Amino acid sequence: MTRLSDYLLPTEKDPPADAEALSHQLMVRAGLIRQMGAGMWTWLPAGWRVHQRAVQIIREEMDAIGAQEMLMPVLQPAEPWRRTGRLEIEELFKLSDRKGSELVLAMTHEEAVTFHVAQVVRSYRDLPLILYHFQVKERDEPRPRAGVLRTREFIMKDSYTFDRDEAGLHERYELHVDAYDRIMQRTGLRFYRVESDVGMMGGLGAHEYMAPCAAGEDEIALGEGYAANLEIAKQNPEVRQAAGGYVLGDKPLTVEPAIEVGNIFKLGTRYSEPLGARYLDEHGEEHPIWMGSYGIGPARIVAAAVEQFADERGISWPRSLAPFAVHLVVLGSEGSTERREAEALYAALREGGIEVLYDDREAGAGEKFADAELLGCPLRLTVGRRALEAGQAEVQLRRGRSDGPGVALDAAPEELVRTVRELWQSIP
Ligand code: ATP
Ligand code: MG
Repeated sequence: MTRLSDYLLPTEKDPPADAEALSHQLMVRAGLIRQMGAGMWTWLPAGWRVHQRAVQIIREEMDAIGAQEMLMPVLQPAEPWRRTGRLEIEELFKLSDRKGSELVLAMTHEEAVTFHVAQVVRSYRDLPLILYHFQVKERDEPRPRAGVLRTREFIMKDSYTFDRDEAGLHERYELHVDAYDRIMQRTGLRFYRVESDVGMMGGLGAHEYMAPCAAGEDEIALGEGYAANLEIAKQNPEVRQAAGGYVLGDKPLTVEPAIEVGNIFKLGTRYSEPLGARYLDEHGEEHPIWMGSYGIGPARIVAAAVEQFADERGISWPRSLAPFAVHLVVLGSEGSTERREAEALYAALREGGIEVLYDDREAGAGEKFADAELLGCPLRLTVGRRALEAGQAEVQLRRGRSDGPGVALDAAPEELVRTVRELWQSIP
């Protein structure tokens, strides 16, 4: 049931004064998000739908590699963080309760998950294990910016793998590479998996999933069959600075800004040692568990999609993330033929399981079209006088703003649904 006349979609003509990033401007203007404070954001109904689409894609691909979904708290005792040496991290919010116990607001969940595994995993028979959750992260970011791209509170999917040895970790890592590749492909984003610098964190290997976009704070170097973080590329002896840029051997590299949307990391025993996560092998000998940690941010997927596909009129969602498949616009007031036809079309599409946002407001065509193009649903159907004379609803494909073949309104409801589904299949 989504009639725009009673749906909370507060669109704006102008972007917030402080909004530089395109995704920040458009997501606020389209009525998807609103700010409450620096780096603190609310997802409004349409925005939350998009966020949850990203969440669902991630969930399906995690489940497909045998990961088990759970939920760990954000509010945590400080003790495990002290043990891993991370209590001093500046981004970590610290607080105390009324009794004076030291607490933290988790910025990630290695401490929590390892704490539990240390208690419940005993033997090699309990391994391997992949655990994950979608949970709020709190980070005292030095510079929250760009709408939901860098906030102080955000939802992350973080998974953790537990293996008896390095070979097992490698296997679990490769499963994540596949899952993340599929997640990114399904979102429709242009992305690159690049090796990341693990030196500083003392890890055994790591990759980042980068989505090129103007608002990105990282830089990636791209060449034929080559993609790397610029910082990593510069360390490659085959990469040289040349006139106006970089070359790899004799091939040119282009440098693009990008945002990190996901990150996978071979931790080794970095957390299992200090938190005592060990297992007994077949011979009764004790060993530390080998761990990996894998993060991905649905909010960044959403914002990167806005950045990558927007045009001068607004957002243009890939199918997989769109808040609604169809934005149905009626031009005609209460009691008109247009209304009657639009109501019937709305009912038929809903019955057919198509997600429709129905703009039934008493407003002008200009306002309705502007809002539809701002919100960016892949298909727009319009029931207005002109097309109605030919017995049709007008079709616009949002990407490219091109007209599609009109939909004949005198068709049976199942036929209407089939036509719209076919149109849907034809778009990116
Ligand atoms: P960055 O280098 O951009 O600060 P990070 O290395 O701190 O990212 P991780 O700790 O690896 O990020 O978190 C995993 C994922 O969580 C990131 O890939 C990103 O999608 C998301 N994420 C991290 N920080 C933020 C933030 N401040 N706001 C929104 N999403 C975030
Ligand atoms: Mg960070």
